[in-house]
Amino acid sequence: MTRDFVYSTSPAHIVFGAGKVATVSEWIDRIGCRRALVLSTPHQEGDAQRLAETLGSRAVGVFAGAVMHTPVEVTERAMEVVRQTAADVVVALGGGSTTGLGKAIAYRTDLPQIVIPTTYAGSEVTPILGQTEAGRKTTVRSTSILPEVVIYDPALTLGLPVGMSVTSGLNAMAHAVEALYAEDRNPVSSLMAIEGLRAFQKSLPAIVASPQDEASRSEALYGAWLCGTVLGTVGMALHHKICHTLGGTFDTPHAETHAIMLPHTAAFNAVAVPDMLAPVADIFGGSVGGGLWDFARAAGAPLALKDLGLSEGDLDLAADIATQNPYRNPRPIDRPSIRALLQDAWEGRRPD
Ligand code: NAD
Repeated sequence: MTRDFVYSTSPAHIVFGAGKVATVSEWIDRIGCRRALVLSTPHQEGDAQRLAETLGSRAVGVFAGAVMHTPVEVTERAMEVVRQTAADVVVALGGGSTTGLGKAIAYRTDLPQIVIPTTYAGSEVTPILGQTEAGRKTTVRSTSILPEVVIYDPALTLGLPVGMSVTSGLNAMAHAVEALYAEDRNPVSSLMAIEGLRAFQKSLPAIVASPQDEASRSEALYGAWLCGTVLGTVGMALHHKICHTLGGTFDTPHAETHAIMLPHTAAFNAVAVPDMLAPVADIFGGSVGGGLWDFARAAGAPLALKDLGLSEGDLDLAADIATQNPYRNPRPIDRPSIRALLQDAWEGRRPD
């Protein structure tokens, strides 16, 4: 077989290390900015205020209103603060929701972004923004959305509750699993995906056993960077389509939905592309779907959609929506198979 691929790399600075949050000021200077607006969720406002204090005169304000799914109304309130403060850079401290707000501001203003991720969702290294308006989520992709600087500091993730650490890690792993069979994959995206899966296989059980272990937190952030990078580089398929359907139509929680669906969608596609998913079976042991399910269960992840408030009656509509608008997937999609897959996930059954 002759090799045939396109490889493009993201023009971002990735900074890794315990205590590296102390270098935010230095990075503000390095990218030629002077007026930073710090962003966070209400829950992380204290951390955002402390970060702003360390920036001294470089900080012009804190906006702590970020919420899940980047509603346009919240972005508009933040834009008002951007204008009032004449901010020339946004510093997002938090998970995917805060990163999303920073991206939404950058999309409208082209302001540079410095992101300090505190979950493993991986949004900080993608040029993708999902935002909601009147309850509808739309996704845009643009180079202005990709953050310029990402500072991964494990010390800031020690307080991420164990349950969220696990579901957030499985969310990131889903990016890597789908990257392995993406039509536009390349040798580097596959290497990164496999290394990202290995990092989580090693770190998540260690975090469950010892949440304050900085080395395991660092390994999980390393996994987040790798898995997020492949999400930003190659196309996603069945798994992400189903999770968007469930989150968008039934408002199921983002990371938990990914965590529950991953073993089922991976098992479904392993039938069509066993060679491409062989690394998943090697890393997690046993079959592709069974190995991922056993790993998720041992880490205490939720396993059944019925535990997320979804009723069995919702599965018909979910199967309809998830199979509308044909999209790329390594195994052909038909409604009866997807309905059966959703039933298994709803019941929390272990895939073979
Ligand atoms: P989140 O950002 O919504 O965080 C959940 C809660 O945990 C928030 O209250 C947050 O303040 C808190 N939190 C975060 N880090 C913490 C820490 N270290 N300690 C204590 N509390 C902490 O959750 P998420 O799963 O990271 O992000 C989900 C969002 O990200 C969704 O809207 C999803 O669509 C988006 N996302 C986007 C992309 C992309 O590429 N565009 C990729 C992945 C996720």
